[in-house]
Amino acid sequence: MRKKFLPFHLPSIGDEEIREVVDVLKSGWLTTGPRTMQFEQDFKQYIGSRYAIAVNSGTAALHLALEAIDLKAHDEVIVPTMTFAATAEVVRYFGAKPVLVDCSHDSFNMNTEEVGKYLKKNKGKVKAIIPVHIAGLPCDMDRIMDLASDYDLKVIEDAAHALPSKYKGKMVGTIGDITAFSFYATKNITTGEGGMVTTDDEEYAERMRMMSLHGISKDAWKRYTSEGSWYYEIKYPGYKYNLTDIASAIGIHQLRKCDHFHKRREEIARAYTEAFSEHETIIPPFVEPGNQHAWHLYIIQLDLDKLTIDRARFIEEMKAKNIGTSVHFIPLHLHPYYKETYGYSPGDFPEASHVYQRIVSLPIYPGMTDEDVNDVTDAVKDIVNKYGKI
Ligand SMILES: *Cc1c(COP(=O)(O)O)cnc(C)c1O
Repeated sequence: MRKKFLPFHLPSIGDEEIREVVDVLKSGWLTTGPRTMQFEQDFKQYIGSRYAIAVNSGTAALHLALEAIDLKAHDEVIVPTMTFAATAEVVRYFGAKPVLVDCSHDSFNMNTEEVGKYLKKNKGKVKAIIPVHIAGLPCDMDRIMDLASDYDLKVIEDAAHALPSKYKGKMVGTIGDITAFSFYATKNITTGEGGMVTTDDEEYAERMRMMSLHGISKDAWKRYTSEGSWYYEIKYPGYKYNLTDIASAIGIHQLRKCDHFHKRREEIARAYTEAFSEHETIIPPFVEPGNQHAWHLYIIQLDLDKLTIDRARFIEEMKAKNIGTSVHFIPLHLHPYYKETYGYSPGDFPEASHVYQRIVSLPIYPGMTDEDVNDVTDAVKDIVNKYGKI
């Protein structure tokens, strides 16, 4: 057994990030400024989108996206039940209704057939769809974009896990109307807290930029530089969602390492899938040929019919072997707020309710050594061998 606990996640912060942060601290300019502008430039170039606006969280990114498409209180937004709190709460910020949909039977992504069925029965009510690329596995974007055009909807992608994901060769961040990324501490690249919105639409971009900083007219941050003036105008009551240059200093270097990080994540995923291939108690994740999985998470499903223990016990056994794991996610419809507000019950989303009992996320991050990876596969195999039904 491992001597030292393997955390479920550790960020990879190098000397480059540290040096750049120190430079910012010494520069006299801490908030949104030249580093953030550079981070935005680098990010839009990396993604291939026309615009990128840095914000202080992925949640802020989603909120600004819905504001830009002019979401109203009487509107509905289709959201997968299998996601994090943020994806649906931003809909509630407007007083609008998040309509939950089940996941598909072979991935944890939103079931587009269910989306189609709902739209057919509820014409005119839905304003947008928020597909979430769970773990970094791209959703069926062709189908989602077709539905959006058939029913005149906007597509806001929750790409918190999807850097760098590709759908049929296209970078996630260039497909839907607006895409939201997160740089939360556990995400594929991090700024501690932070996020980015990308879009090709100039109007959306201008609106989001303005609303990210109090709804103040353009280039408000320049007010305090030699180029700026004291004058500004409040065009709308906006938000305080701008990203600091301290955070962007980290982000600039994290982004440069993004492909390198991803390569390591792919290696780990490959090693896991290979190790579990002869164990029928474990259903590993997959990616369709032609698509790129970002491997933010590696989620296995336990075949509980073939095991004498449940998922909670599996996690305890992993912990006893000094390995941290997690669960992504507890579906929204099982949480008190959504249950009580919308009357959802577990049976409403049978796939998500079913897989929720069986999913475990294994550690997958660039800082893991080959030995760490072996320790994880050995631990998983030990447990399923010990508790397998014969
Ligand atoms: C992390 C995450 C978010 C929110 O990101 P923050 O930067 O923490 O606000 C949104 N959606 C999903 C699916 C996430 O995992």
